[in-house]
Amino acid sequence: MSDRRRLLVLGATGSIGTQALDVVARSHGELELVGLSAQRSWEQLVAQARQTGVARIALSEPDAAARAAEAWTGGEVLSGAEGLVRLVVESEADLVLNALVGSAGLGPTVATLGEGIELALANKESLVVGGELVTALAEATGAQILPVDSEHAALHQLLAGCAPGSVRRLTITASGGPFRGMSVEQLEQVSVQEALAHPTWSMGGKITIDSATLMNKGLEVMEAHHLFGTPYEQIDVVVHPQSTIHGLVTLADGAMLAHIGPPDMRLAIAYALHGGESVDLPIEPVDLVGLGALTFEPVDSRTFPCLSLARAAALAGGTAPCVLNAANEVAVHAFLAGRLAFTAIAAVIEATLERLPAERVSSFDALYEADRGARELASETVAALA
Ligand code: NDP
Ligand code: MG
Repeated sequence: MSDRRRLLVLGATGSIGTQALDVVARSHGELELVGLSAQRSWEQLVAQARQTGVARIALSEPDAAARAAEAWTGGEVLSGAEGLVRLVVESEADLVLNALVGSAGLGPTVATLGEGIELALANKESLVVGGELVTALAEATGAQILPVDSEHAALHQLLAGCAPGSVRRLTITASGGPFRGMSVEQLEQVSVQEALAHPTWSMGGKITIDSATLMNKGLEVMEAHHLFGTPYEQIDVVVHPQSTIHGLVTLADGAMLAHIGPPDMRLAIAYALHGGESVDLPIEPVDLVGLGALTFEPVDSRTFPCLSLARAAALAGGTAPCVLNAANEVAVHAFLAGRLAFTAIAAVIEATLERLPAERVSSFDALYEADRGARELASETVAALA
């Protein structure tokens, strides 16, 4: 792809956002930044704006936006949730990277696809919460969605080489997280620091905890279902502690294709930002001989119930995945703040799903409402358990 592409990076101050700016800097001018956003990290965002020379930034927190506007006179500072949507709609971008965390990413996803702009999607929660409506919107406007998740970028690349009708199953791998092999009793004692110490990936706080509970794989099963239109019963999860194979496609004849790469998110980010093409990156390929062995195990779903909770919510459909996601966000936040035990995360999600049975969804507003309601109930459960 040789055309210059105008890129907007949402969530520029986060783990994915900062790595994306590195990918842009190495794109030899192929990617031109037109705007950046964050929630409240205004000093970092202003520094990024100065460094990249963008003309517009947005901060979701009005106080942070006001401080940025005082400190930076090099361009325009937009404020609040409306500011973020304006940044998307008025950017004249060819491509938006949505690297927000949580269901807060749904609004910008809808704004991007509604404008018919190509979406590089790291914010998997957009698809978990609003999968059917989001993919229908993309189809209606003709906007492409390219995944920025290592497993899904791997599958996307593998599937591009598969004839229609030749795919039997998809497999996404899980590292197993820092607590692989532990018992429920051991998990009851784990600390926030231990949960944040991921064995193979360095990521933002929320997804690191999701990886430790295995909820991340539950969200990723839904992400794969919506991205590739694959039925849930044809999507497998296998624990692979080396995080070297990211995704596998099983073909009709029983052969399997695997995507192998080092655990470096810049691969998936660059793949999505360059329209699904492989570009030069200063990344060493995996040293197979040095690694020696690749191993695989089943998921221990008794000890890590979040994956099963997510699969059940996915099959229930309607508002259930939205409720699951909102309850998970509240519980993870409480765990990170030291207000909830690690093993209570699943309990909060289960209790919230029980109190809010799945309802049909016909509009994004219904999802925003379900998200709000689930957050309220989950917060009550957290308070009751504290
Ligand atoms: P981080 O927490 O590191 O960064 C999140 C970014 O979004 C920050 O820029 C933050 O701004 C901004 N943000 C957070 N909340 C809001 C909000 N309510 N409104 C507006 N902006 C907000 O997250 P990650 O980069 O780790 O993850 C981003 C997404 O990518 C997640 O959906 C995650 O699941 C997915 N992902 C991440 C991977 C990784 O390696 N990190 C791998 C695969 C997927 P501020 O700095 O001001 O808080
Ligand atoms: Mg992933």
